[in-house]
Amino acid sequence: MRYYSTNDQTHQATLEEAVLKGRADDGGLYLPEHIPVLPQAFVSNLQAMSLQEMSYAVANYALQGDVEASVLHNIVYDSLNFPIPLVYVGGNRFALELFHGPTMSFKDVGMRFMARMVSYFTKQHHKEINVLVTTSGNTGGAVASGFYGMPGVNVYILYPQDTLSPLQEAQFTTLGGNVTALEVNGTLDDCREMVAEAFSDKELNERMHLTSARTINMARLLPQVFYYFFAFAQLAEREQNVDQLVFAVPCGNLGNLTAGVMAKQMGLPVKRFIAADNCNDIFTQYLATGDFVPRKVTPSVAPAMDIGNPQNFAQLHAMLHSHVEACELIDGVACDDKQIMSTIAHVWQQEHYLLDPQSATAYRALLEHLQPGETGVALATAHPAKYRDTVEQATGETLRVPGTLSRFLGGTRHVTQLKSGYTSFRQFLLSRDHNNNNR
Ligand SMILES: *Cc1c(COP(=O)(O)O)cnc(C)c1O
Repeated sequence: MRYYSTNDQTHQATLEEAVLKGRADDGGLYLPEHIPVLPQAFVSNLQAMSLQEMSYAVANYALQGDVEASVLHNIVYDSLNFPIPLVYVGGNRFALELFHGPTMSFKDVGMRFMARMVSYFTKQHHKEINVLVTTSGNTGGAVASGFYGMPGVNVYILYPQDTLSPLQEAQFTTLGGNVTALEVNGTLDDCREMVAEAFSDKELNERMHLTSARTINMARLLPQVFYYFFAFAQLAEREQNVDQLVFAVPCGNLGNLTAGVMAKQMGLPVKRFIAADNCNDIFTQYLATGDFVPRKVTPSVAPAMDIGNPQNFAQLHAMLHSHVEACELIDGVACDDKQIMSTIAHVWQQEHYLLDPQSATAYRALLEHLQPGETGVALATAHPAKYRDTVEQATGETLRVPGTLSRFLGGTRHVTQLKSGYTSFRQFLLSRDHNNNNR
């Protein structure tokens, strides 16, 4: 399969290039040349398959032999080694719990798969690759856990001083090994700027083989396609009506929604998607007006969705061709902090289901907009305990933190302090490169 750049159809790449580069040289995002449609018989038999079996089959169709079957089998089975249950909540509404991985957000799914793909490609060439990311919360933990111990890969995570909760921070600062945590005395934007400068530094790139683990990467998007199929399978297994299936997706960079649309284009029978935004409603506004206007972030109680310039938009737009087609398939719903808090409280009291603030935006969209005859699935993207303070404030009750999260808190922190600005970051990276050469 060839992958083309959303900026220029003629700019093409192999899967390996698309995965290792992330973004095309012309600044566009990669998409597969065509989206393979799964045979009807496959879709009708989904309920007989396990998550891993189904994911492997979907991956095989999607990658069309670009990764050796036995290798792909291992990558899928290793990455998806935790359950993704569909939980009944109330009415004809379900939650697809994507947060049972090692860092308890849905980002584990994409990151674990991507880490194994990157490691596979670098091993083939005996290359060493360096992953640079910034985090405001869940990405750091998922990258660290996903890439930890992967041969041939080093990870550098930049984050702004004094902004993360101890729980979030501990998820990526206590591992050590090939995971380096860099605490920057600046803002998240400063961190992003430093990483952007590193990627545009030709000399550094040639020396260190830099890559990002961004949500736009094919190796992150593809595994997110799997669980849409798995949700459908679990509904079919319960003999739930799947003729009018609606997915509500809490949106930030729009990676999750893009994967859903990809699943639909691969043949999953989805009636429509609801894109749920918080107050940073850039995508909802796009659907309403036809204009995509990035803007400065307004901080909210659902911080994983505080994105002012959704990165996956170009892919989503290219897949749907036009604003009209986007509106036919996707409805946009935004909600503010007060509505998020009241949804968490209401669903806990009425339906005895505890939502994290991000997933609450999606579930609220179902409560308000699901039509008779439709079956709604809200993607539950994080364990509520990751947002303990907010959730406790909403429900007025104490929340137990599962061991999977708290186990990091006792660990030794390995953190390097970094001055804001590119000079110090570049120096630091080069000193690491030097060490590697002398080993
Ligand atoms: C990253 C994240 C989102 C946003 O997902 P996108 O794919 O960027 O749209 C939503 N919820 C949680 C908990 C997240 O960590």
